[in-house]
Amino acid sequence: HDKVPLLQVENVNVFYGKAQALENVSIHVHESEFVSVVGLNGAGKTTLFNTISGLLPYTGAIKRGGEALRGTSAAKIARDGIVQCPESRELFGEMTVRENLDLGGYHLADDVRDKQIEWLFDLFPILRERHGQLAQTLSGGEQQMLAIGRALMMQPKILILDEPTLGLAPVILEQLSKALEKLRQTSSITVLLGEQNVTFALPHADRVYVLEHARIVWEGDPARFAAEAGEGYL
Ligand code: ATP
Repeated sequence: HDKVPLLQVENVNVFYGKAQALENVSIHVHESEFVSVVGLNGAGKTTLFNTISGLLPYTGAIKRGGEALRGTSAAKIARDGIVQCPESRELFGEMTVRENLDLGGYHLADDVRDKQIEWLFDLFPILRERHGQLAQTLSGGEQQMLAIGRALMMQPKILILDEPTLGLAPVILEQLSKALEKLRQTSSITVLLGEQNVTFALPHADRVYVLEHARIVWEGDPARFAAEAGEGYL
């Protein structure tokens, strides 16, 4: 990789009052790479993603394609293609699956939007089956897929997934895992995945970071993870 990474986080520090939630954190993500940030509850994953998304003040630098993002609003960062699918999902419960997806693609021309939805339905067949159902009546796993689907409707350059597996049953994990693998193979999208579930996070990842108590303590490829960083995580 000689190219400038699509996303660079350089020596970033974030505080909540006096408590430091990120300490000198540096990560980078190249175009079309799938990078996992693994860490236990409270390690700072959500803080890292919220900082990248422009929601928190920080010191250090965050760059997109080499350009510093400081001063860019969260809305503009998202419009420019860094799209975060939050842990809390934030769906519109009283709207249907299809309506939630339409909202994600509100900026697209009708025919482009319809095509994008068809592509999504191939990725998550369950959403096609449930397209007319109210989002609040979906199972947890289906809601997660809908939240990812809605984020994908924004046609992100970088999709940030914050603990998509949280609270999901094993059979749903498998569906989600399959969908992510298909996404990886059929698109050039760049993914930054935060996970506590290492078994889920590793198979998809080109590279892995381990975040522990606000710091990056290990970086490497998934094949080396078990031997070098696995203790306490596997
Ligand atoms: P989780 O999976 O539980 O969200 P995480 O790795 O994403 O874990 P963060 O949510 O980033 O971790 O939290 C990092 C640390 O910062 C934790 O100690 C948490 O309690 C603290 N923290 C998070 N948000 C706030 C806040 N708004 N005010 C004060 N402390 C916070």
